[in-house]
Amino acid sequence: QAPHAPFPPVLSETESILSNSFDSTSLSEWSHYYTHGLHIAGTNKSQAQWTADRWAENGFTASLAEYIVYLNYPVSNSLTLTYGNGSVFHPKLKEDVLAEDSVTGSPDSAPVFHGYSATGNASAEYVYVGRGQQVDFDRLVALGVPLEGKIALARYGGPFRGLKVKNAQDYGMIGAVIFTDTADDGNVTEANGYAAYPEGPARNPTSAQRGSVQFLSTYPGDPTTPGYPSKEDSPRTDKSPVTPRIPSFPLSWQDAKPLLNALDGHGTNGSEVNRTNWVGALNSTYSTGPAPGAVLSMSNVMRDAITPIWDAIAWINGTNSDETIVIGNHRDAWIVGGAADPNSGSAIMVELSKAFGKLLQTGWKPRRNIVLASWDAEEYGLLGSTEWVEEYIPWLSATTVSYLNIDVGCSGPSPGLSATPELHKVAIETMKKVIWPKNGALNLTMYDVWFEETEGEVGVLGSGSDYTAFLHKGISSLDVGSDQGAGDPIYHYHSNYDTWHWMTTYGDPGFPVHKAVGQYLSLLAYHLADDEVVPFDLPNYTVELKKYFDAVEKTISSTSGSVDLTELTHAIDEFERRAIEIKALEQKALEGEDADLLLVVNHKYRDFQRGFTSQGGFPEREFYQHVAFAPGLDTGYAPVTFPGITEAVEIYKDFDMAQEWVTKTAQGIIRAANIIKP
Ligand code: GLU
Ligand code: CA
Ligand code: ZN
Ligand code: ZN
Repeated sequence: QAPHAPFPPVLSETESILSNSFDSTSLSEWSHYYTHGLHIAGTNKSQAQWTADRWAENGFTASLAEYIVYLNYPVSNSLTLTYGNGSVFHPKLKEDVLAEDSVTGSPDSAPVFHGYSATGNASAEYVYVGRGQQVDFDRLVALGVPLEGKIALARYGGPFRGLKVKNAQDYGMIGAVIFTDTADDGNVTEANGYAAYPEGPARNPTSAQRGSVQFLSTYPGDPTTPGYPSKEDSPRTDKSPVTPRIPSFPLSWQDAKPLLNALDGHGTNGSEVNRTNWVGALNSTYSTGPAPGAVLSMSNVMRDAITPIWDAIAWINGTNSDETIVIGNHRDAWIVGGAADPNSGSAIMVELSKAFGKLLQTGWKPRRNIVLASWDAEEYGLLGSTEWVEEYIPWLSATTVSYLNIDVGCSGPSPGLSATPELHKVAIETMKKVIWPKNGALNLTMYDVWFEETEGEVGVLGSGSDYTAFLHKGISSLDVGSDQGAGDPIYHYHSNYDTWHWMTTYGDPGFPVHKAVGQYLSLLAYHLADDEVVPFDLPNYTVELKKYFDAVEKTISSTSGSVDLTELTHAIDEFERRAIEIKALEQKALEGEDADLLLVVNHKYRDFQRGFTSQGGFPEREFYQHVAFAPGLDTGYAPVTFPGITEAVEIYKDFDMAQEWVTKTAQGIIRAANIIKP
């Protein structure tokens, strides 16, 4: 039996002002605005200005931050499958234009392409490579499937798409196409009797997933300015460490099915490969190929640009000028719509500024600075947020208490939450203050629904959205949103069908989920910005460190090597003692109403995460510095905990390196412990 929070939630007067300010009608208005203009990165200055203007109307000081970055835009692409008997199939490479979705300013659907993909032609036999993860390629090599000089046909799911292309490139393949498989839509498929969008909740057969193919686990941000901000006259480095050399683009399942079927009976079939996530749901044997004479010819033409992008930034000064909360959301989308990704979050951010504006009208002033950010060019590789962090890192390191991220604020009815460990408690308690819509009823809290669906587990942050630059430089971070959960409708991620019509018909009719997520984010931001003591729970950091310890111990014991973890054990013990001490100090400061001591405690809370960063970063990726987590080298999105040790063992298979990282990881934990030491 999952626990329940008291219902209805009891809110303080200030919390009620914030919460009651959220209005579904205005949320729908903001969503309508954002989803009716093309806003691919670097093309939408007016939406940046509009965002800044709304924030300014609500009492924030607002401005635009411009960066000059490398992007590329689609010009044209083509694909032909030639069968052994000489007949040909031409995939559409286009999503059907639907009357329901017709939006102002876009007579046609946006091209189906990959951001940062290479311009080039490839013509060769092709091989199905599953999800294109390392394990898939290992298996293909073991089976003797030829890869060199072939084109990769990969399916979406699992690792970040850029890694699929990187792996193909590293194995000598000369092009890649990546398709959406309906197996990832669970039960909600046409094969199971669901009508496809726009008639029903299943995936439209022509929908394709655009997206960046940057090799983001090396570094995010502008590929040409690693580690420093992209200004007009910034020096630019070679982009090739993080952008592919081989052409790629996405395919719909309808376009991909004939390609899969042409491989049927050739090479090794799906059941022989015997890998979870290898066989999809498209009624094919998922054979590896190659099939003699079955040849793909692809061409991909992109236009390079060094071009401006615009972040909208707004702030209210706090009474403590050296403590800051940043709340951010990206604004750019691959397409006109972007109703869920990212503009459900963008609509919420406007409504959140309105809620804080109401508080300002009562004469309230926050204890800490509150900064709002609307990032551009997240989709290409977190550019707007990374460049901004790279510009302001000295100030951010000195003052930031937390970064709160909202990207896909709403793509369905299930709340989702990931955060660094010190934030878990306040993040969970705040969920008890929000009424969450479920099956048309309003009789549960967000906490109830979240607990039921996640068994009370807060996620670990890896990468994939704008918290990345903050987190991996040692800033406490959180990401909140909602997704489709187990049921319908299917969310058309990075497809033309992530539209106003989809959102108002299927995703969140009436905008109640937008409202609940917005209420949540504003209450959380309020407590972080205004509580007398920063609401951090450091003892929970120890709890989580111990979990990461158990995981790395297990990883090591599954190999034949050995690594001595004593130093790490001692470091965690030391952190545990200091975390208990600081909690006691906090108690003492509160009971004694000791303002000076409170200041000390708050500053220790603000700063302790910085201790976890290791200046040189991880091998081959200096950008990632947090010794407790990094995006996995082999996953891209999903995090790896104690990455220095874990990846030395799993990826580099180097036990001396692992031992070295035990020391560096322990040193990071000790540095953090020393920061909180009274
Ligand atoms: N959120 C975007 C995606 O998943 C960008 C991720 C990234 O570059 O880190 O495609
Ligand atoms: Ca940069
Ligand atoms: Zn997004
Ligand atoms: Zn996205």
